[in-house]
Amino acid sequence: MRYISTRGQAPALSFEEVVLTGMASDGGLYVPETVPQLSHEELADMAGCSYAEIAFRVMKPYVGGEIDDDTFRGIVRDAYATFSHDAVVPLNQLDANHYLLELFHGPTLAFKDVALQLLGRLLDHFLAKRGERAVIMGATSGDTGSAAIEGCRHCDNLDIFILHPHERVSEVQRRQMTTVLANNVFNVAIEGNFDDAQAMVKASFADQTFLNGTRLVAVNSINWARIMAQVVYYVASAVALGAPHRKVSFCVPSANFGNVFAGYMAYRMGLPVERFVIATNANDILHRTLADNDFSKQALIATLAPSMDIVVSSNFERLLFEAYQRDGAAVAELLERFQDEPSALAEAPLARLREMFASHSIDDATILEVIREAHHRTQEILDPHTATGYRAAERERGDESVPMITLATAHPAKFAEAVVKAGFPGVPLPPHMDDLLEREERYTVLPAELAAVQRFVAENRR
Ligand SMILES: *Cc1c(COP(=O)(O)O)cnc(C)c1O
Repeated sequence: MRYISTRGQAPALSFEEVVLTGMASDGGLYVPETVPQLSHEELADMAGCSYAEIAFRVMKPYVGGEIDDDTFRGIVRDAYATFSHDAVVPLNQLDANHYLLELFHGPTLAFKDVALQLLGRLLDHFLAKRGERAVIMGATSGDTGSAAIEGCRHCDNLDIFILHPHERVSEVQRRQMTTVLANNVFNVAIEGNFDDAQAMVKASFADQTFLNGTRLVAVNSINWARIMAQVVYYVASAVALGAPHRKVSFCVPSANFGNVFAGYMAYRMGLPVERFVIATNANDILHRTLADNDFSKQALIATLAPSMDIVVSSNFERLLFEAYQRDGAAVAELLERFQDEPSALAEAPLARLREMFASHSIDDATILEVIREAHHRTQEILDPHTATGYRAAERERGDESVPMITLATAHPAKFAEAVVKAGFPGVPLPPHMDDLLEREERYTVLPAELAAVQRFVAENRR
């Protein structure tokens, strides 16, 4: 399998190269050159298989023979053995035809574990094979950092440095990162805000000389392997509800669009899907684009669903590439214009998107209302991100005879603030984490100065 850039200029890469690379040199994102197909029989044969087995079968064509089957099976099995539920991603029925897909049973209680448990192991495998080491750098305001740390803590060939804004992440989120005491894990609290941390990571990727030739790897959602890992739960949940013999719809709380794009890939591989509903919080660029063709940036709004607080949806570019029928030049032109001024999609690509995607956006007051309403109707306490999905699914349901699967992207205990504001006592952390607030922490506070951060990384990497 070869991977090509959405902007059409960067060289095509192998799977191994694409896992180690991140963004393409032309500013685009990598996508597979052709979409592998799952036949009706192959889907039917997955009924009753374990999650790890379905994962192996769905991802195998993307790996394209670059890892032998036994090794890849082992990597997949290890990645999903870290989940606390035997089904890995269980389905929970909410009403006659509405299901929650619980993606939060991994080590950090949010769906990012599904991809990052795999990505860490894939990176370690390829680095070991090459006899190389690499450094991971990332900035986080919450979920991604802890999931990346958990995904890499056992990787011998990786050192991971995660920057978070000092005293500006919740205690649970900080402790999920800082209580991992592995000797390849480095938490840095920056005396600044998230944007300062992010800017230092970006600058480090732009000029990597401070690492003297060691590879710097990004684990954000532009990495293709994260999308690939997420394709699996769309297939697994649809098969559990009767695919390929009947269609399902999905509703996805969305921000950078990596999650719902993975669903679209499952559809393109042959999974029978009726529609995708994109749910957003008040940061609604995806909803504005689909509903009003208003493809423009707006100021960031801090919401009760902070993991969906974004201005630009980086992975939307991958869908635009398909909507523009893989015309990389047109995608490059649109996205370059969008950087500086409010833009709009051309008519035909927008019409193509509207065939498969609906959208709905809610503000903080409505998030609280939905948490109460969902509890009243189903006895479930939703986390604030999943609440956006619950409402969007109800509003954009379409044909009610088609099962609707809403993706539950985080455990409510992780976002207690919203749950308490909605009028509930807090939600307890699951048993494997109930001593989180007593565990020993380790992190280093640094000023928001690039030189200080780079010196820390260079001196501490192994
Ligand atoms: C990251 C995240 C999202 C958004 O996912 P995207 O792939 O960026 O669209 C939604 N909910 C939670 C809890 C998250 O951590």
